[in-house]
Amino acid sequence: MDVHHHGIGMTSQRTRARMVERLREQGITDEMVLSVMNSIPRHLFVEEALASRAYEDVSLPINFGQTISSPWIVARMTELLRGSHSLNKVLEIGTGCGYQTAVLAKLAKEVYSIERIGPLLTRTRIRLRELRITNISLKHADGLLGFPEVGSFDAIIMTAVTTQIPELLLEQLTVGGRMVYPKGVSKQFLCVIEHTPQGFIETILDEVKFVPILSGVVNR
Ligand code: SAH
Repeated sequence: MDVHHHGIGMTSQRTRARMVERLREQGITDEMVLSVMNSIPRHLFVEEALASRAYEDVSLPINFGQTISSPWIVARMTELLRGSHSLNKVLEIGTGCGYQTAVLAKLAKEVYSIERIGPLLTRTRIRLRELRITNISLKHADGLLGFPEVGSFDAIIMTAVTTQIPELLLEQLTVGGRMVYPKGVSKQFLCVIEHTPQGFIETILDEVKFVPILSGVVNR
């Protein structure tokens, strides 16, 4: 299968450049993030029937009851994760369709990503391989347990909402590192936790809407 062929017009470089302009107007300032999002073919991360909508500022369904995060969410979370530093080892919880993973892969040395839904991860694995993104390790597991076999990470991003920050993940965050995640019950907010020599410092930011983090795995 040639993934580079579906859709013309609405999925062109021009459409992508307009998305990036909108992100800029919406307050995204990290030029590295904008440049990476200008280069990744987001329409290849959704079903063909939705490809023409891939560059709108909305989240879209990606099967198994999950959604691809909107461009603004991806840009904002990535900008927050980077701060103004370069990324070395990043852990992502909730691979989904792999778009956020692909963005991170262009900005970090290594990306480790965990997804609990097996068949969703299988498709994403194929997609990322076809896009020749190689500095990533994908794992089918419960992301709330982290990736202890890798050691610790300088950045952790969680793309599903939690009510409480998972302690196990904080243990895998190096000093100087930061974690970005949505948190909340009736209202959800993007949060950043920084691991400083004095301890963890949490900052609560934009109101958002995410699917919930669930424990355990789904095999089929
Ligand atoms: N960044 C993804 C977001 C997908 S939605 C994208 O843009 O496509 C959130 C994803 O988190 C879903 O795929 C869901 O299955 C996954 N998820 C939820 N709880 C999880 C857990 N405990 N471990 C790993 N993945 C989880």
